[in-house]
Amino acid sequence: MIVILLGPPGAGKGTQAAHIVEKCHIPQLSTGDMLRAAVAAGTPVGRQAKSVMDAGKLVSDEIVAAIVEERIEQDDCANGFLLDGFPRTLVQAETLDAMLEKKDRSLDAVIELRVDESVLIERLRTRIAQTQARGEEPRKDDNEETFKERLQVYRDQTAPLIPYYEKQGKLKVVDGMASIAAVSAEIDVILDGIGPE
Ligand code: ADP
Repeated sequence: MIVILLGPPGAGKGTQAAHIVEKCHIPQLSTGDMLRAAVAAGTPVGRQAKSVMDAGKLVSDEIVAAIVEERIEQDDCANGFLLDGFPRTLVQAETLDAMLEKKDRSLDAVIELRVDESVLIERLRTRIAQTQARGEEPRKDDNEETFKERLQVYRDQTAPLIPYYEKQGKLKVVDGMASIAAVSAEIDVILDGIGPE
């Protein structure tokens, strides 16, 4: 089962990704996590990506596509995977389609977590406060100014994926304003309708 989670920063993708991983026993491929790992490890990709990420802009399509292509060839992706944070541009979406076609695989569903933008800043403030309460440093791009940039990037570059996948008949919209449990339940209904790859 190959599933994409789509939604603006703060929509709850991470929370629901954990739920899907547990339910479907497929790995979560978060390009954000992979890039942060590359930054932390100081790899050439990480060195290139760091300042772009800190500014809330997008890392190049080539870099993320290469990371994803390498990752989905690993054994644990044989029965499927969940993409979180990729694709984020139309070019990435087209690259993914081509990549999957080459491997005789195809996307099962694109789950969009739809939320009112007005709640996102509030959710960010809560996330920062909770991180600090645990005695941890918030992510470098988790501040209000950079968050607004990430949101703008989402509107400009990522939101066009919604009509793209709608045309493919793959888009499933979930009400991301509902409680975490209610969102998970809605996602379960979608996933139960897919079946194994
Ligand atoms: P969010 O919580 O906003 O969804 P992520 O953890 O997915 O953030 O990503 C953090 C940052 O990593 C992005 O702002 C961007 O700089 C970079 N990034 C992650 N995925 C991609 C991608 N598919 N294409 C380009 N840049 C990406």
